Amino acid sequence: MSGKETQSLLDEEKAQDWLDSLPTVGEGQTFCFECNPDVPCFNRCCRQLTLPLTPYDVMRLCRRLGMKSDVFLDNFAKLRTFPDSGLPIAMLSMLKDPDETCPFVTPAGCHVYEDRPSACRSYPLGRGTQLSRNGVSETFYLVQEPHCHGFDDGRDWTAREWFEHEGLAPYNASNDRYMRLGTMITASGAPISDKMGNLALLCLYQLDRFREFITTMHIFGRVEVDDKRQKAIMESDEAALDFGYDWVELVLFGQCEGLKKKQA
Ligand code: SF4
Ligand code: SF4
Repeated sequence: MSGKETQSLLDEEKAQDWLDSLPTVGEGQTFCFECNPDVPCFNRCCRQLTLPLTPYDVMRLCRRLGMKSDVFLDNFAKLRTFPDSGLPIAMLSMLKDPDETCPFVTPAGCHVYEDRPSACRSYPLGRGTQLSRNGVSETFYLVQEPHCHGFDDGRDWTAREWFEHEGLAPYNASNDRYMRLGTMITASGAPISDKMGNLALLCLYQLDRFREFITTMHIFGRVEVDDKRQKAIMESDEAALDFGYDWVELVLFGQCEGLKKKQA
């Protein structure tokens, strides 16, 4: 993964240009695809990747590996910043072997398969998102790479069938919050400061440390969070991440639909 490639991915305009160069899979259209351990290219796609890890991806991987977020980020990720919003994004570090292999690939396949990142689940589709009046509008793109024999055979899928098959619903729901947060910041006219970027990193990518922060800073004393949600935040990673999005939005914009400040 070169720094240049990563930068292109983080540059929204360049990322969109790349997506626009790909064929789309419209509503009701299908593509033929099958991936299994018997394909001649098995594991070929798990190397030399520029692979972003969203907060939800990191949450699932930390839990899967039984790892503290700091240890995971130190060992498996490089932190980058979206230039338009100033929000952090973790990029999965490939191994330093000649093939630049993913650290999670084994001869038998993906070691973290049940918790593999959004981008791996989506492949061979890419999902472009935009805020719309009705929430989020989606465009699906087909990433057809020469080395991939998955297109040679298999059943026909619509994009929705593929995403359901790959268990993407919770990933997309959470990732859309990150996209929404970035869009709100960009629309405000300036990227957030490094300090706010570090807060976003803590609240979204380091849920174990975020819980310590909630306790130390008496955060529940400052906002309206009922006992049931407080308990869920301290026990469930999903609830903590959801609260993290609310907290960051509240701090950055002074208001958040899902979280109200306590009246003084
Ligand atoms: S996380 Fe798993 S599926 Fe994704 S690139 Fe690595 S080995 Fe392949
Ligand atoms: S290159 Fe395509 S067919 Fe081969 S293992 Fe990867 S996704 Fe499956």
